[in-house]
Amino acid sequence: MQEIERVHYASTNAVPKPGAADTTFFVQVDQAKCQSCGTCEEVCSTGAIQPSDGQNGPRTVVDPTACMNCGQCLANCPFGAIYENVSFLDKIEAALADPKVKVVTMPAPAVRYGLGECFGYPTGTYVGGKMFTALRQLGFDKIWDNQMTADVTIMEEGTELLNRVSGKNKAPLPQFTSCCPGWIKFAETFYPQILPNLSSCKSPIGMLGPLCKTYGAQEAKIDPKQMFTVSIMPCIAKKFEGLRPDIKDIDATITTRELAYLIKKHKIDFKNLKDSEPDFDLGESTGAGTIFGNSGGVMEAALRLAYEVLSGEKLTGDAVNITPVRTHTGVQAADVNVPKFGVVKVCVISGLHNAVPIIEEVIAGKSPYHFIEVMTCPGGCVNGAGQPLAPDTLQSSLFKSVIARMNRRFHMRTMG
Ligand code: SF4
Ligand code: SF4
Ligand code: SF4
Repeated sequence: MQEIERVHYASTNAVPKPGAADTTFFVQVDQAKCQSCGTCEEVCSTGAIQPSDGQNGPRTVVDPTACMNCGQCLANCPFGAIYENVSFLDKIEAALADPKVKVVTMPAPAVRYGLGECFGYPTGTYVGGKMFTALRQLGFDKIWDNQMTADVTIMEEGTELLNRVSGKNKAPLPQFTSCCPGWIKFAETFYPQILPNLSSCKSPIGMLGPLCKTYGAQEAKIDPKQMFTVSIMPCIAKKFEGLRPDIKDIDATITTRELAYLIKKHKIDFKNLKDSEPDFDLGESTGAGTIFGNSGGVMEAALRLAYEVLSGEKLTGDAVNITPVRTHTGVQAADVNVPKFGVVKVCVISGLHNAVPIIEEVIAGKSPYHFIEVMTCPGGCVNGAGQPLAPDTLQSSLFKSVIARMNRRFHMRTMG
């Protein structure tokens, strides 16, 4: 076991064999450390983590099928008893050391709001400029920002919504978002009947991998066979997503924590780095791509597109902020008035257990909504389980863990 930013890893070279992601535990409990406090069971939406003795003994993740790989149990365990079981760190270091290999990095929007915490910055500080410089110093050949394909996702998902609303696309309403791998696995496992309601779009990183090895390789004159793509995510479930057979061209995935580890291991003086920009070979990105990391962000970005197309009016000034859909926890429903169209009914859900009654409504044919966003983690990706742990987790008693959970409300990261 190796400790990285207060989380243990089974190995820094533990990559599932091709096709084995579905049967791999991405997180697991160290039975010797578990204090049987039950916090992990409270935060797990699927019942995948349970007492190993069937009573109140140390917990274990019982079944990889039932586990959405979200890592919220790990992020909330007050005793540091849950470890990550999959890591591409050694594979990435080998690629960076090989002069024949061109290593492309694809950082997600939320990473730049979490990384600073590992270097002493206050929660939620934007450190994107320093992160890009650090990535170059680590030896990455290209930084193709995942924020750019967040914009592509919005265009695709927003257009799909417009076509479903107008009847041009016969797929059913409401349309659910499809960018969170925890949510996708949840729907596939427990509610396959609603899969036609899920947007047909891949997630931003699902789109960026193939773009890197086709358009990007062409633009940058890199042989795609010599290209090694690294996705940097605030999320453990994105490691699972990158290994899915229907997601192509992502060679490795690491979390914000693992990026901080690499930066420290290579003795890069992060705080004193100058800011720099990503490489724009694939294009630039907008503020709509940035807010993807917050719960409600995907919805808000897609609504901006839908609003302008349906009404023919440009959103300007404060009007671009469709604040009723911004939520940090739970369920937020809103009616958005769109001139020349009418009311678009939307719902933003944070936490899979909160999705269940809304899904049941859809299955019963009683859903009033046009568009529903579901994010597995409370507050969205910015609070994903690949981000640095909240300062007051890993305390040493149950009492402290209760206080920690109360305090975490005030450490909830937001962005955009
Ligand atoms: S939260 Fe941690 S210590 Fe508590 S039961 Fe779960 S694994 Fe054990
Ligand atoms: S990773 Fe998520 S789904 Fe799996 S056991 Fe932990 S909380 Fe439950
Ligand atoms: S909400 Fe974001 S961080 Fe959490 S599982 Fe989904 S994609 Fe990952």
